[in-house]
Parts: sequence; C-alpha cells; structure tokens
Amino acid sequence: MKINISNLSEGVHTYDLSGDVGTLGLEANFQGIVDTHVTLEKSMNQIVATIDASCKGIFICDRCGNEFEEQVQTEFITLYSWENDEAKGEEDDFYVLQPDENMIDLSKNVREYLTLSVPLKLLCNRAECDIPKHTVNEQKTIDPRWEQLQKLLKQENN
Ligand SMILES: [Zn+2]
Repeated sequence: MKINISNLSEGVHTYDLSGDVGTLGLEANFQGIVDTHVTLEKSMNQIVATIDASCKGIFICDRCGNEFEEQVQTEFITLYSWENDEAKGEEDDFYVLQPDENMIDLSKNVREYLTLSVPLKLLCNRAECDIPKHTVNEQKTIDPRWEQLQKLLKQENN
C-alpha cells in the first residue's frame, strides 16, 4: 500500500487503494481486501495523510460463541515531513522522509489502526444471540426403579 510522492504537486490529492489482508500482515480475524481512501495534502516541507480504512472481520461472539462478520473501520492521520523536528518525532504518527525518499508506505499504520479498531466487546447482535445453555441432563426426579433399588440397598444395610 504505497504512494509515489516524487512528483507530487502542492495541494490535495486523493487515492483509493486496496490491499490483501495477507500482504498487509493483518491477523487471522481479518479477511479479504482492505479498502482505503487516502487524502494527501502536500505543502512545501510535509505531507499530511488522512487515511480511511476498512476491512471485513470474522469474530467470535462473546455472548453466544457463534462466529459473525463485522466491518472494521478506522480513520487516522499520519504526518510525513522532510524536516527532522525532534519534538514532532516523538509522536507516533510522525514520519521523517529522507531527501531521496519517493514512496510512502501506509501498510504498517493501516495494519495497526485496523487492529486497534476491533471492538473490545464482540457481540454478534443477532436476535437469537444468547448465552449457551448447558445441555446436561440433570434428572431431578429419581427414576422409580432406582428408588426401589435404593430401598432394597437400605434394607440390606440395616
Ligand atoms: Zn451472539
């Protein structure tokens, strides 16, 4: 998921990029293709990239334990600069470009932000979603035959 910035003029540029989850190194929960809409705002010394990314995820419902599909969506901003400003460099989404660098690679950030966007509580929201009932056959009433046997055993013991 790379953009060539070598001949980028100043101003706003938009891109629609997509990449395979495998190529992006996303975890197994994600499936298929990651779609992104990227807006680059180039000024003299920097490029501000606004990235909107989404991908299909397959999760296990926390409540009913069934598998369900959910679209994971994220939006983030990364700043690419040709100036090495140390104060800015401490921020996560600040990237210093080398003078001869002509490609920006969005893959790592797309991967990280999508992973962070997975909800902490995963619920399928299906109508039938419920905590599974334990299917243990608890016989509350004693089988009459057993009752007879128990009586006999008691008699023997006495
Ligand atoms: Zn559920």
